[in-house]
Amino acid sequence: MRRTWLIFSALILILISFAANGTAQSAIADLKPTVVLISLDGFRADYLEKYDPPMLKKLAKNGVRAKWMIPSFPTKTFPNHYTVATGLYPDNHGIIENNMYDPEMDALFSLGNREAVQDPRWWGGEPIWVTAEKQGQTAASFFFPGTETEIKGVRPTYWKDYDGKIPNEVRVDTILSWFDLPVEKRPTIFTLYFSDVDDAGHGFSPDSPENKAAVLKVDSELKRLYDGLKKRRIEKKVNLIIVSDHGMASYKPRDAIILDEMFNVNDAEKIFWVSEFTQIFPKEGMEESIYRSIKSKLPATANVYRRNEFPERFNFGSNKRIAPIVVVPNAGTTITNRERFAKMERDGNLDKMRGAHGFDNLIPEMRATFIAHGKAFRKGLTIEPFQNIHIYNLMCEILNLKCAPNDGDDRLVKISLKKH
Ligand code: AMP
Ligand code: ZN
Ligand code: ZN
Repeated sequence: MRRTWLIFSALILILISFAANGTAQSAIADLKPTVVLISLDGFRADYLEKYDPPMLKKLAKNGVRAKWMIPSFPTKTFPNHYTVATGLYPDNHGIIENNMYDPEMDALFSLGNREAVQDPRWWGGEPIWVTAEKQGQTAASFFFPGTETEIKGVRPTYWKDYDGKIPNEVRVDTILSWFDLPVEKRPTIFTLYFSDVDDAGHGFSPDSPENKAAVLKVDSELKRLYDGLKKRRIEKKVNLIIVSDHGMASYKPRDAIILDEMFNVNDAEKIFWVSEFTQIFPKEGMEESIYRSIKSKLPATANVYRRNEFPERFNFGSNKRIAPIVVVPNAGTTITNRERFAKMERDGNLDKMRGAHGFDNLIPEMRATFIAHGKAFRKGLTIEPFQNIHIYNLMCEILNLKCAPNDGDDRLVKISLKKH
């Protein structure tokens, strides 16, 4: 009796796991060259060794990985995502920061401002999904800055309004469901975005257990994607390009620079109080005095730049959206004002370790991640660091698309692809 019961239970278990794994999934035999561009926001290059995420490690081992990827300046989310998508420096694609003012449009841009984010006038250049759609292919996005906007009159065929609360599993399963479309409707370029590692890095610092947990969480969600592709027998064919937009540096809020003690804020028309890349728009005739005042008082842990005076290697400073004066701290420091500092003090938050980015794009803490795996890529190759302007050309090559003009070249095509 007991034996029959055991056999019965085992059968039930097998049935349940059959249902859960969706074994009804049929193999996809007619896949065209396909890219899934995956962004792990704030995933610093060294997290791969530091936290040992198994899925990413496996993909790196069987594909191509860069020692690190050099982000573009400023090392912020929207500028770098859109650089990856277009191959253009932020100065040239126009998304120069997450917060911007355009003097000609007399309009403000910020991540949370849906109307601005969806206004095509902010987005220059040609992102990969537009290149693909314009040349007769189909694009699908479960999030990526720029995909919610009609750029050059084109949006991905499938796209979503950004909502950070949508669980990553839902994002992954939706991508997989798009793979199940008949070949004439199936996308060839997909984008996917996870913010967890950036969120944990900011809130608790790169070295925290919370950050480690976020790294392992997104890794398991990538495994869900990989397993879904495997069920469809395309896990070795689909080209996964996994990137991050920038790294993360630890800081203590107590070490902030209190910038409104260094100049008269009434001389400014507007100030974007961002912790890492603070833009100041002077009132008419006040630029010189604001600049001199800050320059004379700023500690050595930060730099003040005029729009046209950024170091050459930043490739940054000609865009009219950049404020006439910008203060950029070094990693380990942030910018704040008296009011914000006092609030942090009242809340007892001055000595909690946190994370930030937006600094010089060459410092080790800002190093980004690049891992690529799939049919087009070589196996087991580690490549030297390169800047993120080159990924657009790589994607065009894999997808047999004619590239739009951009700032990158074919170095990744030559080094990382099988037949070049
Ligand atoms: P940052 O301020 O540079 O750290 O930006 C990271 C944040 O950008 C994440 O926490 C996301 O919530 C947000 N984000 C990412 N993609 C989008 C998007 N398409 N629209 C609005 N916000 C986004
Ligand atoms: Zn980011
Ligand atoms: Zn961030």
